[in-house]
Amino acid sequence: MSFVAEFNSLPLDALVKQSLAGSAAAARDAIGRPDKSLADFAALISPAASELLEAMGRRAHAMTQQRFGKVVRLFAPLYLSNECINNCKYCGFSRDNAILRVTLTADEVLQEARALKAQGFRNILLVAGEHPKFVSNSYLEDCVAALHPDWPSISLEVGPMETAEYRPLVAAGADGLVVYQETYDRTIYAAMHTAGPKRNFDWRLETPERGYAAGFRRLGISPLYGLADWRHEAISVAAHAAHLLRNCWKASLTISLTRLRPCAGEFQPLTHMTDRELAQLVCAFRMMFPDVGLVLSTRESPKLRNGLVPLGVTLMSAGSHTEPGGYTGAGKEHIHQTVRGRIVGTASGSSEWAPATPPALNATEQFHIADVRSPQEVADLIRQLGYEPVWKDWDAALTA
Ligand code: SF4
Repeated sequence: MSFVAEFNSLPLDALVKQSLAGSAAAARDAIGRPDKSLADFAALISPAASELLEAMGRRAHAMTQQRFGKVVRLFAPLYLSNECINNCKYCGFSRDNAILRVTLTADEVLQEARALKAQGFRNILLVAGEHPKFVSNSYLEDCVAALHPDWPSISLEVGPMETAEYRPLVAAGADGLVVYQETYDRTIYAAMHTAGPKRNFDWRLETPERGYAAGFRRLGISPLYGLADWRHEAISVAAHAAHLLRNCWKASLTISLTRLRPCAGEFQPLTHMTDRELAQLVCAFRMMFPDVGLVLSTRESPKLRNGLVPLGVTLMSAGSHTEPGGYTGAGKEHIHQTVRGRIVGTASGSSEWAPATPPALNATEQFHIADVRSPQEVADLIRQLGYEPVWKDWDAALTA
């Protein structure tokens, strides 16, 4: 059974209500139960459980060290293209935003990758908007094949595909697939995605399973906190994770902790999740899923990232740029504006997100990052916290 069928029968509203009304005693019981149910997870993220945060933090810390050791893996996003045919209200790359756009050539992708390699990275996440003309499957395959000799771990965060379309990408050297559902609330999903293929909620929800069938051995999922009620999202993604752990058991799974950030289009979050609630959620995920990796990006501030590492974060990005060409200026010669998916000329915008030219230094970013420390600064901080930063944790030879 695909997750869509399971998702449709989940008593999500009841679980959210149960969470909101939960007691500290119920949360204590949930902490102590070895095999936790979704109801236990709802108790762990309840307002009442907030008073147990210190105890939850100690438990989550111990479990993380037991399962993952004292290491934090580092990765970098490499944006290939910010062209997109979808309108997602919360995203800077949204089709109707008048921003500066570019799709890097394979050579420019290699230029960006070399800069990341020089900083120490060996684990890379290739990100692109969804645009079949600019970001075709063969383009992605060419990029992955060009990077594969130097990059032991290559993950993709691109438009969803059929299983058969994913297979050549896996064969070319991609081993991870990241797909955020954005929101698990169907009504809000419909309101946020006003044009483009991304409007199909179910197709997106089944993407990790199609990727697994194609051979990806790392899967990453997440909502984007700031759209629907965060407890609704957290319980949904917990159910999704449990389904994938049961059905895609050969793959390793990560859940990202992704909150909305400012971007072109000036979208304002619809809901709010506090830093303390995010910390509680990290602990709850760790206790619910001892072996699942938890990902924290540069969307969060240095102070919060420092504080969340000991609670259970296992994978962090660092020094990120969220625009194509952001690391080296690659591709700036062919930056242009695109309106409704069509190139309309050279860069000539005049907003904060699309500054007037000349010269446009870079294409427009997807969102502002909050942690602007360099990768080395982040690595030093990880060491100061008593952990080892890990730049490479896989070698293609291990799959042979
Ligand atoms: S979230 Fe993805 S699909 Fe939506 S506009 Fe941004 S890049 Fe395009």
